[in-house]
Amino acid sequence: MGKENLFDLEIIIFVKVLLTLYMNEIKKKISLVNKLLVKKYGIPPRLKVPPEPVDLLIATILSQNTNDKNSYKAFQNLKGKYNDWNLVEKLPQQKIENLIKTAGLGKQKSFAIKQFLSSLKKEKGKISLDHLKEMNDGYIISELTKYNGIGVKTASCVLLFSLRRNICPVDTHVHRITNRVGIADTNTPDKTFTLLNENMPDDIAHSFHTNLIRLGRGICKPAKPNCGICPLQKVCSYENKLFNGNSNYKENNFLLLDTIK
Ligand code: SF4
Repeated sequence: MGKENLFDLEIIIFVKVLLTLYMNEIKKKISLVNKLLVKKYGIPPRLKVPPEPVDLLIATILSQNTNDKNSYKAFQNLKGKYNDWNLVEKLPQQKIENLIKTAGLGKQKSFAIKQFLSSLKKEKGKISLDHLKEMNDGYIISELTKYNGIGVKTASCVLLFSLRRNICPVDTHVHRITNRVGIADTNTPDKTFTLLNENMPDDIAHSFHTNLIRLGRGICKPAKPNCGICPLQKVCSYENKLFNGNSNYKENNFLLLDTIK
């Protein structure tokens, strides 16, 4: 091997070592943040039997841009009334829109639901995502995101809540807090998703994700983080911490995707 090739090889090895050290640091910080959140909130409960992937996917579409209570009502209006996605698939879009109106964005969400159910039925001959259960995470994300209105966040919720994979979906809370704390340094939720899930320690994605959402709703809010009562205060790198918030906040710990049956 010539001197130049040897030099190139050394640079490649050096960069790889640096990258591994950087990844290890991210992994360690995810573990630490998870431990601190579990200390504050505990390990989030899970249903004994995970929800069916189609149910979970539709609940996740309904949950976009609204609170969990409103989307749960909309889900119950569909599932409670028909209890069979084949019947929902046959409804006119307008009827679906009326049934889900408590969740907001009725036109957009009813279109996504109708399109998804019809496409799945056409492709597979039935409304079921059971074929995904044996597939790997990357394949499942690419399969689900090919449908209109289904993005990486929705697909990753199916992976975490329904298929019980060690995958952390990234919503606005997870994206904001992991960037403030210093785990991520990204400008989009999809980039945060890649970074977190390339470095997620085993078996903690559910508690990490769920407890970050609780923290984001109650303490680490977008405009006024309440850093004085935050369990992550000592490990957080956010430069604009605020310490004058109210310590008597009311917590909302109803989490839709751990409630769907
Ligand atoms: S210390 Fe403040 S900015 Fe950091 S995570 Fe807690 S509430 Fe958010």
